[in-house]
Amino acid sequence: MNKKDLKTIISHYGKNKQILKAIEEMTELQKELCKSVISDDNNNIDNITEEMADVEVMLNQLKIIFENHQEVKKVINTKIERTKKRVFDEYYKKTIQDYNKEKKFYKKKNIERK
Ligand SMILES: [Mg+2]
Repeated sequence: MNKKDLKTIISHYGKNKQILKAIEEMTELQKELCKSVISDDNNNIDNITEEMADVEVMLNQLKIIFENHQEVKKVINTKIERTKKRVFDEYYKKTIQDYNKEKKFYKKKNIERK
C-alpha cells in the first residue's frame, strides 16, 4: 500500500472524516462476518473480502493519522506472543487433564495401563 497515496487521500478528505470512514468500514465488515456466521455458509465471501480490504486500507490511514505505525507493529508482536503462550498453556493443561482422566478410568476399571 502506497503511503504517499494514503497521505493524499487523508489530506483531501481530512483526518476526522477518515477516522469516521474507518469506523464505517469496520461496521460493514462486522455486518458481513455476522451474516456469514448466522447463515453458516460462505455465500458472502466476496463481500467479506471487499470489506476486509476496506478495513485494511483504513487501518493504514489510521496509522498515518496517529503516527503510530511502529507502536502498532510492536503491540501486534506482543499480542501474538502472548496468545501463542496462552495456546501452549491451554494445550498443555488439556493434555495433563486428559492424561489424568485416562489414568482415573483405568484405575476405576482396575485395568493395567500399557
Ligand atoms: Mg466498505
